[in-house]
Amino acid sequence: MAEATPGTLRDLGEDAVIARLCAALPGGPDLVAGPGDDCAVMRTVVPGQWRLLKTDCVVEGVHFLSGTEPERVGWKAAARAVSDFAAMGGAQPEEALITLIAPPECPMAWAEGLYAGLRRCAERFGFGVVGGETSRPPAGCAGVIVSVALSGTIAADRCRFRSGARPGDGIWTTGQLGGSFASGKHLDFMPRLAEARWLVENLGVTALMDLSDGLARDLPRMAARSGVGFRLDGAALPLSSGSDLAGALGDGEDYELLVAISGEPAAGQLAEWGRLFPGLALTRIGEFVPFGAGDGLTAGGWDPFEGGAET
Ligand SMILES: [Mg+2]
Repeated sequence: MAEATPGTLRDLGEDAVIARLCAALPGGPDLVAGPGDDCAVMRTVVPGQWRLLKTDCVVEGVHFLSGTEPERVGWKAAARAVSDFAAMGGAQPEEALITLIAPPECPMAWAEGLYAGLRRCAERFGFGVVGGETSRPPAGCAGVIVSVALSGTIAADRCRFRSGARPGDGIWTTGQLGGSFASGKHLDFMPRLAEARWLVENLGVTALMDLSDGLARDLPRMAARSGVGFRLDGAALPLSSGSDLAGALGDGEDYELLVAISGEPAAGQLAEWGRLFPGLALTRIGEFVPFGAGDGLTAGGWDPFEGGAET
């Protein structure tokens, strides 16, 4: 007899929902990495070159508030997907498809503003917008949804996964964490694409992801995928102005990089980072340890099937 399907999406939480839904799906013969990393990774006909695929969406009332300037919504919708390209080692985004679900009453000027934000992100990171789809929500539902599907490439030897961290690797993060909603950073953040490329080229990066759901949720994900534990140095966490430790752990939408680095970077390398990326901190916040050792960190972070609005 088949196992009973348990409860609701909220009962299970995002990670378990995805694992359960994707368990029996075909991946195809060229699949390198499927659900569970920041992007899907596929082999191509070009030896040593992989194709990355990502889709991401923003939902009015969940990822942005009604009344938010449409240019900022458009930037965020596209930049979230670019941040996931950074999370794989700084893959180059090449083409995007946009799905817009908007009520018929949506002002045309708002939609044009949205696409101005999408265009600004496409021009900044060098990808084309080559198609998409439009539809409307059901009657009585006034919210806008924007989905961005992004495709691009990376050299196989530059690609990094969540699964590569080893005991003894340092845990590092870029920038400052926490308070992203209060500051508006969640709308205006800059994906760390160039930074990810530099890190992979210059330091012993063993695992990489972007911090979208909060360190408290994302760090355990990296540790679990890598089969290791972790020890976090709370006093070392780089806090955004106005944020406290709980905010840095749980607010989410930081869109900074979480990096596992083997060995200690040389002083000259850290100086070079400071010269190339002025004002952007690169901070060691802990260490990966053998599985079963280290901290438990399960509270906080964001799950789309819990609670109400994200913003
Ligand atoms: Mg991600």
